[in-house]
Amino acid sequence: MHFDLPMDLYEKREGKDVLETEFLPALETGNISVIGAAIYIEDRYLPDTSLRVALDQIARVYAETAASQQFAICKSFGEIQEAHRTRRIALVITMEGVEPLGTDLNQLRVFYELGVRSIGLTHARTNAAGHGGIFAASGSPQEGLTAFGQDVVRECEILGIIIDLAHINPTGFEEILSMTTKPPIVSHTNARCYYDIERNISDEQIKMIGERRGVIGVNSILVSPRAEESTLDRYLDHIEHIANLIGIDSVGIGFDFFEFIYRQWPESRQKELAAKLATPHFIRDLTNHSHAPNLTRRLIERRFSDTDIEKILRGNWLRIFEETLNG
Ligand SMILES: [Zn+2]
Repeated sequence: MHFDLPMDLYEKREGKDVLETEFLPALETGNISVIGAAIYIEDRYLPDTSLRVALDQIARVYAETAASQQFAICKSFGEIQEAHRTRRIALVITMEGVEPLGTDLNQLRVFYELGVRSIGLTHARTNAAGHGGIFAASGSPQEGLTAFGQDVVRECEILGIIIDLAHINPTGFEEILSMTTKPPIVSHTNARCYYDIERNISDEQIKMIGERRGVIGVNSILVSPRAEESTLDRYLDHIEHIANLIGIDSVGIGFDFFEFIYRQWPESRQKELAAKLATPHFIRDLTNHSHAPNLTRRLIERRFSDTDIEKILRGNWLRIFEETLNG
């Protein structure tokens, strides 16, 4: 439920058939059927060109999808089912950080019409809607959402946009839960008991999601602060930890594969990321979508039942789409 695909398509906007040549092979090998394709605006575009870059990212998703028989942009549960029936990969457009909206709620309606079906208010920074949790155990601002952030949350529920609690600071997290009624999601995160930073979620927060029948997508690049512990088994530990706390119906996949972008960066930019956020530790046998069967195999080895594996890999997210998306 989280993949930085639109950002990369935008960076390669002069290219042709990028989706088919650079992404499809791994997605097919991994047997991936639904992707949350996240619009994200990098710092260097803020604030002036956020809206333009977001629109261009969506334009590239549409253009690349139109050029392929293998993908479908899906705006409803029915369209996701139809994509599965016709053996195409469903792309659900999401937004990570509402910077493209500026402070204009009308823009939310526009992005909804363009197909955005899930929104997280912030990345690991402050914007007009609220504050993101930081990559440290504490230290983000204590306050919750701004009035604009509250308006966005209310409007999302009315429109049928899934509200994603990934990245939001702890105060904002609770505030959003208190304002909403539908099952909440955390599209890509990890358990703080294994990696204690605000960007991940505590046992208490995990329980809050469980109480509301929400779903937590387990992230593959922040399973441990230590490279040597960033393993497929530790990824499974996160799944088991969440399932033990709130049940199998609330665990999903939020790989957030990022290595394909990271390796394109010069060393200076990789160092910048390490200084500003954290050094990502990629799991050797869970680095891209082609590795998904490794996860399935390990779930079987750890004696998860077929029914539970189906829920973790697919069924739980489908329930969220069915219960949350209008139409
Ligand atoms: Zn993220």
